[in-house]
Amino acid sequence: MNAQHIIGQMAPDFLLSVEALTVSFDGFKAVDDLSLYVDKNEIRVIIGPNGAGKTTVLDLICGRTKATEGSIKFKGTELTRLSENQIVLAGIGRKFQTPSIYEDLTVFENLEISFPRGRSVFGALTFRRDREVIDRIEEIAEMIFLKDDLEKRGEYLSHGQKQWLEIGMLLIQDPELLMLDEPVAGMSVSERKRTAELLHKIIKGRSVLVIEHDMKFVEDIAHRVTVLHQGKVLSEGSMERVKNDPKVVEVYLGH
Ligand code: ADP
Ligand code: MG
Repeated sequence: MNAQHIIGQMAPDFLLSVEALTVSFDGFKAVDDLSLYVDKNEIRVIIGPNGAGKTTVLDLICGRTKATEGSIKFKGTELTRLSENQIVLAGIGRKFQTPSIYEDLTVFENLEISFPRGRSVFGALTFRRDREVIDRIEEIAEMIFLKDDLEKRGEYLSHGQKQWLEIGMLLIQDPELLMLDEPVAGMSVSERKRTAELLHKIIKGRSVLVIEHDMKFVEDIAHRVTVLHQGKVLSEGSMERVKNDPKVVEVYLGH
């Protein structure tokens, strides 16, 4: 057994390994030498003050923004060289802050249009609604608490329901890493609880990377928390540990 082999065996098997990642916008480093490792089946929450670089980290992982330096490995594949579309196909789904569902389509149609096969050469809505697709849509609708609203048009959903629908539109593609940017912003207390429940349900077989400000929600969902400040990791660990870190209290939680 050679040294390489031994190192290979010892290297922990992370789903996502971000190493020494930097992005510079005209000399300003929004993300600065950041390293972050996410396990399989982990719910990781990124917190931190406004402008800390949280959204930019998701933009880098999903290929929307190109890294200036550093590496992002997903299941061993280097993502920094891939296009946004290739990154989706590799198994990463990303939800932006504002819901972007189709208001004039029903819940069923919104899910159907997001089903991977829907993106065939024949266009999104022309493929046969076979049993497999319908079953999958119903399964997802149940998961996102919209089973009784399948025929409702998007525009008639509450803000929280729109957020769930958009999560459903990602889930139907069965991503191994799901990234959510402030998913409970604007939600009622009961919707937040249900969203936490939803994340715990979907974690089997995948990992979730969430940006959030609501500490109660973070406490409900996070396996581990990463605190970002000025594009760098300020603190990392369990919620308990991070919450009691004087550096975190000073720059974030104290306000
Ligand atoms: P957060 O999500 O933590 O609030 P962001 O990642 O949105 O922070 O932004 C981090 C910093 O990077 C901010 O100062 C923001 O103005 C800057 N920034 C983000 N994207 C760009 C961009 N495309 N060009 C220039 N500056 C940017
Ligand atoms: Mg942001």
